[in-house]
Amino acid sequence: MTPDDQSPAGTAAIETDVFVAGGGSTALFAALLVARAGHSVLLVTAEPEFEPAGAGISPLVAPPTLGLLAEQGLEEEILGSGQRVLGVDDHGPAGLLHGWRYADFPGITRPYGLTLPTGTLVQALLRRLRAEPTATVRTNARVTAVDQDDNGVLLTLTDSALVRARYAVAADGRRSPLRDLTGISLHEASFGRPGWLVAAPVVPDREPVALVRHPAPQVLFTIPTPNASMAVVWCPGPQQAEALGQGDPEVFAAQIKAVDPELSDWLGKVRDRTSPVFRVDFSMWQAASWRAGRVLLLGEAAHGLHTLGGQGLNQSVQSAASLAHALDDALTHGDPSRAGAYERIRRPFVERLQELQWSTPALRSYSAEPPARGAHEDFVDVMTNLQPELAAQLRTTV
Ligand SMILES: Cc1cc2nc3c(=O)[nH]c(=O)nc-3n(C[C@H](O)[C@H](O)[C@H](O)COP(=O)(O)OP(=O)(O)OC[C@H]3O[C@@H](n4cnc5c(N)ncnc54)[C@H](O)[C@@H]3O)c2cc1C
Repeated sequence: MTPDDQSPAGTAAIETDVFVAGGGSTALFAALLVARAGHSVLLVTAEPEFEPAGAGISPLVAPPTLGLLAEQGLEEEILGSGQRVLGVDDHGPAGLLHGWRYADFPGITRPYGLTLPTGTLVQALLRRLRAEPTATVRTNARVTAVDQDDNGVLLTLTDSALVRARYAVAADGRRSPLRDLTGISLHEASFGRPGWLVAAPVVPDREPVALVRHPAPQVLFTIPTPNASMAVVWCPGPQQAEALGQGDPEVFAAQIKAVDPELSDWLGKVRDRTSPVFRVDFSMWQAASWRAGRVLLLGEAAHGLHTLGGQGLNQSVQSAASLAHALDDALTHGDPSRAGAYERIRRPFVERLQELQWSTPALRSYSAEPPARGAHEDFVDVMTNLQPELAAQLRTTV
């Protein structure tokens, strides 16, 4: 790579401090933080348009993640579009296994999590990124080749444009083309137990909490989502899974009758306002490393968690804060080794969560034993607190 790299059309390479591939919240948040630290950033997404407000799934954004978004001035806007979730009730066959409310935690900054459409968060971040003078956003483009040396990364885009960046970030999702071009391998494993997902109007007069029922081996999960809706995830027993096949709504409602009769009857009443029943195959994946030279992996390009832990987006956004801080440090001091703090701090933490999920029998087998302590108990800490090492990293001045 030389300073006078030229595209085939003869135009000089575009220079930027940080190149980000991806158009989801994780990519946008990382790019926004890099730009606000005063560095130039070019974000490139393969799609012609960003996800519109209100579209997409509505993940539960936990208080520590809300705190990071609040620091960038986003909280007020997203609060108006999200649904507050006050805590979790986790029931076994004999009653409540574990129930908790965010408000029970002394010193918690927000006594709620927020379910929020991914498109709403994308648009809120995109507006702020576009307002940054050092940020450039491009749609409809992909990286086709990557090369790097001690000074930076040279990326070729689909329209033959060349980009010379000090660092490149692959936040381009599970199938990350930039990760593959960089030569980082991915280990993937299926949890082997599918779930079926439905979005429907929320059951009236229920407290807005995530509700888990484990008659074992079945698991039923409901969570309130914006606009008086809810998401229902049903992980049936093996024979029931066969009967459910492609997701007949009547079979779905009949199967959950024994577990939550009120919900089953309600789904019958609101059938015309209920989404199709989707099958979800849960899996876990880990990139062999989160960094190769000056290319860093972020979000689902680096890791995948089981959906029922509610941590995929949370951990990705929290990692974006770590990555942006590490890159600011590396760029400010002209020292690439400082970028290594990101993987050092975040990877063991996220991989520990993955191991926790992988060792939970209810997620991986048709175990007839409900989890003794409630499936979400092990996750309470990450649902309420920022990783202490990340909090310490973010407190340090670059
Ligand atoms: C049913 C369900 C429920 C969930 N619930 C929760 C929850 O409660 N809490 C939680 O924290 N998480 C949850 N998650 C997980 C969460 O939604 C994901 O972890 C998160 O959205 C991943 O973000 P990402 O930005 O890493 O990847 P993605 O959202 O997949 O973004 C990747 C982006 O890269 C772009 N792209 C693809 N190819 C290229 C390319 N070649 N060049 C440039 N860009 C490219 C794509 O267009 C996309 O914009 C849930 C997931 C599911 C499926």
